[in-house]
Amino acid sequence: MRILYVEDEKFLADAVKHNLEKSGFTVDLAADGEEGLEQAVKDIYDCVVLDIMLPKLSGTDILIRMREKNVPTPVIMLSALSEVETKIHHLDRGADDYLAKPFKTAELAARIKALTRRPKPINSSTINYGDLSLDQKNARLNGEQLTAKEAEIIATLMESPDKLVSKDYLLAKIWGEENLGEDNYVEAYMSRIRKLLKNIKSETKITTIRGLGYKLTGA
Ligand code: CA
Repeated sequence: MRILYVEDEKFLADAVKHNLEKSGFTVDLAADGEEGLEQAVKDIYDCVVLDIMLPKLSGTDILIRMREKNVPTPVIMLSALSEVETKIHHLDRGADDYLAKPFKTAELAARIKALTRRPKPINSSTINYGDLSLDQKNARLNGEQLTAKEAEIIATLMESPDKLVSKDYLLAKIWGEENLGEDNYVEAYMSRIRKLLKNIKSETKITTIRGLGYKLTGA
């Protein structure tokens, strides 16, 4: 199993690499954000471990760019900032797990194993949920043509059905981090998608969780 560990504290990086390799992992190190991003988007790793405070680009930036480029590799964020909000912020942006510093390598190894055990999604361009079927390649929902953005939004909701998908996550993923705060973009699209669901007589509903985001339910 090949791991990328992006960490600027060389002592820590070397120690973790040494310990993980003793447990049978292969570990590549990157010492700053730019190098980390360049490695991470190659999509050759089973898991990427990102420190948050890094020179050049932060771990958060790497995470966001990986997800923008649809790199599906599981990501574990590391940080001394262990506050719940920081954790949620990163999980919202597509991190799979979060570990507070200082940590034990055994704990990190356990988290990596847990993430990489998950079955890989079936490589299909069609997503199904309830009575909905989205053909991602052609942006068609139950046969109806969608715009690219509409398709991305409904795909994002369908990938996490019955779960809260935050507005910030949708904005960052679909419009880019620089548009955070432009909540009206998301609202406008949601109202269009709701109309569409009504038109195709779907039983699936997009529920608004006030102040937080949306949840796809029903069927
Ligand atoms: Ca650091």
